[in-house]
Amino acid sequence: MERKTFELGDVVLMKKQHPCGANEMEIIRMGMDIRIKCVKCKHSILLPRAKFEKSLKKVLRSAAGEEPQATDSDNG
Ligand SMILES: [Zn+2]
Repeated sequence: MERKTFELGDVVLMKKQHPCGANEMEIIRMGMDIRIKCVKCKHSILLPRAKFEKSLKKVLRSAAGEEPQATDSDNG
Protein backbone atom coordinates (compact mmCIF):
# COMPACT_ATOMS: atom_id res chain seq x y z
CA MET A 1 0.00 0.00 0.00
CA GLU A 2 1.23 3.39 -0.92
CA ARG A 3 0.68 6.28 1.39
CA LYS A 4 -0.48 9.46 -0.19
CA THR A 5 1.02 12.62 1.10
CA PHE A 6 -0.08 16.05 0.16
CA GLU A 7 0.51 19.56 1.34
CA LEU A 8 -1.02 22.94 0.98
CA GLY A 9 -0.36 24.29 -2.48
CA ASP A 10 0.19 20.90 -4.08
CA VAL A 11 -1.34 20.17 -7.44
CA VAL A 12 -3.01 16.78 -7.44
CA LEU A 13 -4.51 14.49 -10.02
CA MET A 14 -8.01 13.33 -9.15
CA LYS A 15 -9.59 10.03 -10.14
CA LYS A 16 -12.75 11.75 -11.17
CA GLN A 17 -12.57 14.56 -13.62
CA HIS A 18 -14.26 17.86 -13.05
CA PRO A 19 -17.22 18.71 -15.32
CA CYS A 20 -15.04 21.31 -17.05
CA GLY A 21 -12.78 18.53 -18.31
CA ALA A 22 -9.74 19.00 -16.08
CA ASN A 23 -8.79 16.62 -13.33
CA GLU A 24 -5.94 18.59 -11.83
CA MET A 25 -6.69 20.37 -8.61
CA GLU A 26 -4.69 22.63 -6.37
CA ILE A 27 -4.95 22.27 -2.61
CA ILE A 28 -5.84 25.67 -1.27
CA ARG A 29 -6.90 24.79 2.26
CA MET A 30 -6.11 21.96 4.63
CA GLY A 31 -7.78 20.93 7.83
CA MET A 32 -10.56 18.58 8.81
CA ASP A 33 -11.75 19.25 5.31
CA ILE A 34 -9.69 19.85 2.23
CA ARG A 35 -10.47 22.64 -0.15
CA ILE A 36 -9.27 22.14 -3.68
CA LYS A 37 -9.43 24.40 -6.68
CA CYS A 38 -9.77 23.28 -10.26
CA VAL A 39 -6.72 24.49 -12.18
CA LYS A 40 -8.79 25.03 -15.29
CA CYS A 41 -12.03 26.70 -14.27
CA LYS A 42 -10.84 27.88 -10.82
CA HIS A 43 -13.91 26.42 -9.19
CA SER A 44 -13.25 25.38 -5.60
CA ILE A 45 -14.63 22.33 -3.85
CA LEU A 46 -14.65 21.40 -0.19
CA LEU A 47 -14.19 17.72 0.57
CA PRO A 48 -13.91 15.79 3.81
CA ARG A 49 -10.32 14.58 4.19
CA ALA A 50 -11.28 10.91 3.84
CA LYS A 51 -13.20 11.58 0.68
CA PHE A 52 -10.40 13.67 -0.74
CA GLU A 53 -7.86 10.91 -0.09
CA LYS A 54 -10.16 8.45 -1.81
CA SER A 55 -10.56 10.69 -4.82
CA LEU A 56 -6.88 11.49 -5.03
CA LYS A 57 -5.02 9.63 -7.71
CA LYS A 58 -1.62 11.14 -7.21
CA VAL A 59 0.28 14.26 -6.33
CA LEU A 60 1.59 15.83 -9.50
CA ARG A 61 3.82 18.44 -7.95
CA SER A 62 4.39 19.87 -4.55
CA ALA A 63 4.27 23.52 -3.65
CA ALA A 64 8.00 23.49 -2.94
CA GLY A 65 8.67 22.22 -6.44
CA GLU A 66 10.20 19.01 -5.15
CA GLU A 67 9.29 15.41 -5.66
CA PRO A 68 6.64 14.29 -3.21
CA GLN A 69 8.17 12.36 -0.35
CA ALA A 70 6.59 9.84 1.96
CA THR A 71 6.76 10.91 5.54
CA ASP A 72 4.97 9.92 8.65
CA SER A 73 4.60 13.42 9.94
CA ASP A 74 1.26 14.78 11.02
CA ASN A 75 -1.62 12.55 10.23
CA GLY A 76 -3.94 14.12 12.67
ZN1 LIG B 1 -13.10 22.65 -13.43
